[in-house]
Amino acid sequence: MGFEYAPALESRSVVDLKSSYGLFIDGEFVDASGPSFKSVSPATEEVLAEIGQADVADVDRAVQAARRAYSRTWSVMSGGERAKYLYRIARIIQERSRELAVLESLDNGKPIREARDIDVPLVAAYFFYYAGWADKLEYAGFGADPRPLGVAGQIIPWNFPLLMLAWKIAPALAAGNTVVLKPAETTSLTALLFAEICQQADLPPGVVNIVTGAGSTGQALVAHPDIDKLAFTGSTEVGKAIARSVAATNTPVTLELGGKAANIVFDDAPIDQAVEGIVNGIFFNQGHVCCAGSRLLVQESVYDDVLARLKRRMATLRMGDPLDKNTDVGAINSSEQLARIHELTAVGESEGAERWSPPCDLPERGFWFAPTIFTGVSQAHRIAREEIFGPVLSVLTFRTPAEAVEKANNTPFGLSAGVWTDKGSRILWMANQLRAGVVWANTFNRFDPTSPFGGYKESGYGREGGRHGLEAYLAH
Ligand code: NAD
Repeated sequence: MGFEYAPALESRSVVDLKSSYGLFIDGEFVDASGPSFKSVSPATEEVLAEIGQADVADVDRAVQAARRAYSRTWSVMSGGERAKYLYRIARIIQERSRELAVLESLDNGKPIREARDIDVPLVAAYFFYYAGWADKLEYAGFGADPRPLGVAGQIIPWNFPLLMLAWKIAPALAAGNTVVLKPAETTSLTALLFAEICQQADLPPGVVNIVTGAGSTGQALVAHPDIDKLAFTGSTEVGKAIARSVAATNTPVTLELGGKAANIVFDDAPIDQAVEGIVNGIFFNQGHVCCAGSRLLVQESVYDDVLARLKRRMATLRMGDPLDKNTDVGAINSSEQLARIHELTAVGESEGAERWSPPCDLPERGFWFAPTIFTGVSQAHRIAREEIFGPVLSVLTFRTPAEAVEKANNTPFGLSAGVWTDKGSRILWMANQLRAGVVWANTFNRFDPTSPFGGYKESGYGREGGRHGLEAYLAH
């Protein structure tokens, strides 16, 4: 049982919510041509604001503004000057971090503790990191005079709205490109607050443009003939459609798609630490994490012990108001995502896996799903193969390291993996065997701006973060 805590609510008053928002084009907020849509709080279903939907003509205006800014100011400015703007943006993000964290938590449903301690500090860190590269591009290992590509079209998902924005915008700008970014339709608000931050930093108009809207706005951006680079993070299905639609062009594309990561616990692992890593791996951000450790592989000899401790730990997770600083697990981002989690977990039961959740009261309004584990899962089960993108863990077992590798790699995805063991040599051996872009050892979901991130197979191609992340925005 958990302790009783008094509520510790973060104040909403730091956020200045407007009733409606337009698009950010050429340094200014302008009305969208399409019909507006609502952004709701996933925790309460309260309408937070009306958001403008950009149509083909709006997207064209944004691309033209980005083109002008590219040729007239941003690509001709020295790297040192660009760096000053990026440092300024990074510092303003730190100064306004509380406001950003509260708005992210309100709009996305993630716990304020995570938005405040993980998302927003990382967002600032990515801007600081790439600011540092802006005047050193010739030393990045991509030739003596690497050049920007031009105008980048960038499309991001709803699970880490600000962080995905930072992963896309910071390297693009550092390398001298200008951008048109489309946030996900359920989480536009922090991207629009970021637009205000660009104004506050006196960023030249047109360097960053934000077009809000749903899939059709994204399609207009992908289809625009004057885009020099596309970067997409989202589902494998949409990623494949984008790859198909640009196949006949020369536009370079990076795709960061889905995952079904194995989190592998050997019998010599520090079990309590591993249990924390399992919980962080799948319940962080309600499991809305592309690299979530959604397939737990436990060595048979410690299975009973790991499972007992995992259940005990799960019973202490606090679920509820995302703005309460005690909350560990917040709301599911949308009713559509909740329906998908219900559908796949029902399939898990009908295929014969055993379902368990700790006792917990779900709030009446909003979109909620209790942390859940499935045992008795086989590799053929859909819950072991498909990305659920929610707080649902499938547990499998193995006997030998070779079996662990075979099971871990038995997936169409290849984004991340985790290894828990006391032996350094085994960590290195496993890292070589695992077909995953990121392999964490005795930790999970750890991000750092200096470290590249990206997938194999159906998890996409290209890398973001680190020196590698610059390469995607440079011609060399
Ligand atoms: P999604 O693919 O439905 O949407 C992602 C973005 O694409 C949204 O902005 C959406 O409006 C836009 N979009 C939708 N249809 C489009 C189209 N036809 N053309 C252009 N744009 C279109 O994905 P989602 O449900 O928002 O996000 C969840 C998925 O994202 C998960 O599969 C997750 O694994 C993945 N993801 C991957 C990473 C990574 O780095 N690999 C990170 C976060 C999320």
